[in-house]
Amino acid sequence: METDFIVIGGGVAGASAGCELAAHGRVVVLEREDAPGYHTTGRSAALYTENYGNRVIRILTIASKPFFDRQGFLSPRGVLFVGNAAQGASIDRALADGKAFPQTFEEISKADALRLLPILQPDYFTRAIHEPDATDMDVHGIHQAFLKGLRDRGGQLVTATGDAIARPVGSGWEVETRQGTFRAPVVVNAAGAWADVVARAAGVRPIGLVPKRRTAITFDAPAETPVHGWPMGLDIDETFYFKPEAGRVLASPADETPSEPCDAQPDEYDIAVCVDRIEQATTLKVRRITHKWAGLRSFVADKTPVVGEAPEAPGFFWCAGQGGYGIMTSPAMGRAVAAIVTSGDLPEDLAAMGLAAAELAPGRLFGA
Ligand SMILES: Cc1cc2nc3c(=O)[nH]c(=O)nc-3n(C[C@H](O)[C@H](O)[C@H](O)COP(=O)(O)OP(=O)(O)OC[C@H]3O[C@@H](n4cnc5c(N)ncnc54)[C@H](O)[C@@H]3O)c2cc1C
Repeated sequence: METDFIVIGGGVAGASAGCELAAHGRVVVLEREDAPGYHTTGRSAALYTENYGNRVIRILTIASKPFFDRQGFLSPRGVLFVGNAAQGASIDRALADGKAFPQTFEEISKADALRLLPILQPDYFTRAIHEPDATDMDVHGIHQAFLKGLRDRGGQLVTATGDAIARPVGSGWEVETRQGTFRAPVVVNAAGAWADVVARAAGVRPIGLVPKRRTAITFDAPAETPVHGWPMGLDIDETFYFKPEAGRVLASPADETPSEPCDAQPDEYDIAVCVDRIEQATTLKVRRITHKWAGLRSFVADKTPVVGEAPEAPGFFWCAGQGGYGIMTSPAMGRAVAAIVTSGDLPEDLAAMGLAAAELAPGRLFGA
């Protein structure tokens, strides 16, 4: 099949890139699995926060908010960051980082912190920062909105492709799959944890992507405790977090164990660490774990996403390295991919916020 753009990977990254590219030509999004959200996209903590990651991440996050607001994908949550006496420097650094952007982010008294999150152990923390505007995200709704946008613009999602393998043919690319062969002048590599695998198979220099496993559980809250209104509780050095999830509590030890790209599974040790940290920091007792899972958050060396053309492979574009921010940055990332593929530069709003295409380009990782 001949088309204009082929996107490899049907998670939130491939879906958003495909949706935006479909405004410029015919798009096919190829997904190995039967369901496009099976891997990291379907395994997140679903939090939108403007106080996470470096400057580039924060710009991409803030630039994504209008899309989420328009479609009603955000709902109130808030985040309470806590630290003990030994973590004063981390609290101060977070406050300084937060000042660079206009969001609400302020240190509050211990008494106010306990009013917001009464299940915190008073002895566990000395200082707290509240970010009231952080929200929950409807991840399934966001992913489906991109896939609907793709279809509405005449694009196509092809699932159950097996490992799509791209190779250069003439001045374009040919991608072989179980569902047939696809040809286009442009291939976008949005294969999540597998992005370097896809590149190597295509003869393209890898970007040094490291998938890191992160574990999550849900457990029953005490019957008499109304959990719904709690903010997310988050250790300032990200050693654990927890938040309400459909009447239960979702918690993570915030682990980052390097992994091969795979169908990540939770490790019993990480679950035990999670339970221990939650029981030390709060009055909660984890009596019954109702669900446990793990997913891969994939990073390059500078922990910044990679969007742009491979320097030595014309027509091969990266959309990878979304780390722990891939849902909340997905609308801006999709628009960045489409603009860079079609014009070589970023959308105006991202440029106006001070972001340069070179900051996302793969060449930065090779000293180009
Ligand atoms: C526990 C956890 C908590 C998180 N919390 C948050 C959060 O609160 N907020 C936030 O914004 N982000 C969060 N994230 C990160 C976020 O989930 C990811 O950044 C995002 O889902 C990455 O999307 P993706 O499309 O790149 O990857 P994926 O969803 O993994 O999609 C990649 C797809 O490519 C497909 N693929 C791979 N190779 C091929 C091939 N050769 N051919 C065809 N298809 C292929 C795979 O099958 C897969 O479906 C969290 C992640 C985890 C694990």
